[in-house]
Amino acid sequence: MDFLIAVVAITVVFALGASIGSFINVVVYRIPAGLSILWPPSRCPHCLNQLKAYDNVPVLGWLWLRGKCRYCKNKIAVRYPVVEAITGLLFVIIFLVFQVSIATLGYCAFCSWLLALALIDLDTMTLPNALTQSGLVLGLAFQIISGFTLEASSISIVKHLMMGIAGAVVGLWLFEAIALGGSIVLGKTAMGAGDAKLAAMMGAWLGWRYLLLASLIACAVGVLIGGLVIVRSRQKRGVKIPFGPFLAIGAIITLFTGQPILSAYLQLFNLSQ
Ligand SMILES: [Zn+2]
Repeated sequence: MDFLIAVVAITVVFALGASIGSFINVVVYRIPAGLSILWPPSRCPHCLNQLKAYDNVPVLGWLWLRGKCRYCKNKIAVRYPVVEAITGLLFVIIFLVFQVSIATLGYCAFCSWLLALALIDLDTMTLPNALTQSGLVLGLAFQIISGFTLEASSISIVKHLMMGIAGAVVGLWLFEAIALGGSIVLGKTAMGAGDAKLAAMMGAWLGWRYLLLASLIACAVGVLIGGLVIVRSRQKRGVKIPFGPFLAIGAIITLFTGQPILSAYLQLFNLSQ
């Protein structure tokens, strides 16, 4: 019986995540184009026919249409169901790790913002202020709520809020400094202002310590993948790689592995003293 409940719970969480993923696809397409994200309802980008509710079911809709629009038979990019499936999976992992809690609710929102920002950065090399700013405010609100639910004292609330604010400030300063250093050393802008704002948003959610860990992971993944991209596109010089997706990957890895990594590091530090 417990097993059955677990299966039902996971299925529901996945379906919820996939539906949010479907909305993320809309946001990623419409925000850079300056369109409303609420109106009109989902349409085929080629023939502008409105999608039927049953064709709009996340992942499955794409599968039973075999990746083609019902009306004009134009291909629907495989990225749409992939983003839906990834969002669903992320929600399930968050649910399994953090169970039924405020953290689960908050981190699902955080990951949705990260996914939307990463995809927009991949598409347009920009990180819209509307998303980084709303994500930052949401992160601070999350700190206040978790401070309240953990201890319900004003000290706990202030402590959590300060942690979020400190994280945001460190994120902003760190990446402004990296951008400044990069422009002095390389003689060109190495990092956009959007990256600093994304780092500030991540700091609000993670606090400054986990933000630093997330940034380290982002740099490591960035060097690895960036190196591969540069090697593979040797002909095209000066290929630009957005950093937002790496920051998002760093933040998501930190959510799940931050605690053990940080405590292992602190232990190492204590032993060496
Ligand atoms: Zn169509």
